[in-house]
Amino acid sequence: METLTKDKLLFTPGPLTTSITVKQAMLRDLGSRDIEFINAVRQVRNALLVMGEVSQAQGYEAVIMQGSGTFGVEAVISSALPKANGHLLVIINGAYGDRIAKMADVHGITKTVLKYAEDQHPPLAEIEASFQQNPTITHVVVVHCETTSGIFNPIKEIGALVKQYGKTYIVDAMSSFGAVPTNIADNQIDFLVSSSNKCIEGVPGFSFTIAQRDALNACKGNARSLSLDLFAQWEGLEQNGQFRFTPPTHTILAFWQAIQEHTAEGGVAGRSARYQSNYNTLVAGMRELGFKEYLAPKKQGYIISSFLYPTHPNFDFKKFYELLNERDFVIYPGKLSQVDCFRIGNIGRITVEDIQGLLVAIEETLVDMQVDLK
Ligand SMILES: *Cc1c(COP(=O)(O)O)cnc(C)c1O
Repeated sequence: METLTKDKLLFTPGPLTTSITVKQAMLRDLGSRDIEFINAVRQVRNALLVMGEVSQAQGYEAVIMQGSGTFGVEAVISSALPKANGHLLVIINGAYGDRIAKMADVHGITKTVLKYAEDQHPPLAEIEASFQQNPTITHVVVVHCETTSGIFNPIKEIGALVKQYGKTYIVDAMSSFGAVPTNIADNQIDFLVSSSNKCIEGVPGFSFTIAQRDALNACKGNARSLSLDLFAQWEGLEQNGQFRFTPPTHTILAFWQAIQEHTAEGGVAGRSARYQSNYNTLVAGMRELGFKEYLAPKKQGYIISSFLYPTHPNFDFKKFYELLNERDFVIYPGKLSQVDCFRIGNIGRITVEDIQGLLVAIEETLVDMQVDLK
């Protein structure tokens, strides 16, 4: 066990640092038909609805799908869009939005794309104009926290517009769900997708979709893939509480523990408060060291922060990354298309003290590199 506590701290978009108790919950070998496992699946599905502030009585269902988050998004895209007339509007301001557009192409789904710079919110007027120009659009997808930059997109305002025009609304809430309060009904979301290893602080292995039941029923027969058939997956879970194919047993047990720790922390509000403290500490410290943020503060979410590469001639990101890594702090290169950035995540089982430790390590690293930004 000792070595488990000595891992490097992950300040990344995921996988993330998890608690020792979440890791310990995996030290079991439960069969897929074991009642204990089936109960865990049921409890997890119920807890996810609670986290999304909805219930079965209100007409919502939670479906778990094996694989990473991308598998979950692809399950929704390839199951929700009708084969005959499906037409997807993809609203993009980062790499995860781009990925969804690619999914539509792979599955031969008609798509319209609205693409914006990574530091810009999609303008509502342009979404509305797109609905007027393309009346055949049936579904709309947007990313809540675009982890590429850390920008928070206005999912509620977009949702209101999507419903005004009678479309189905899909939200990739991968890096926000569990830490950013999201009432699925109030946001008028038909399919919300997230995964086990982000803000709920489980380990990687599955994604989940919280879906409005009528929208889920409408998926029947649409799937372009056997394994990513969201409707069939739901049907299987409903019929006997089981997955259609080998379930991620250990990951589910870890996730159930993670959910209990999430509840103990005060649920979404508690988790959100810790991440916001992490974010505030990080940004204040980075500014003091002379770093500049990529996003305007009012667009920047508290999940992950992007910082511009300093222009100092001695700054070399690869070296910076490696020196921090040697000090047991793992940060993440940016994936922005136009600007050189690196990212620091505020999520996972990390505290303000960990952020303070990171800031000291960054300060020392700058000295090592002879980079003075002040
Ligand atoms: C992490 C993430 C995903 C899924 O990525 P995987 O590597 O497949 O888990 C999708 N969308 C967003 C916004 C993410 O942050």
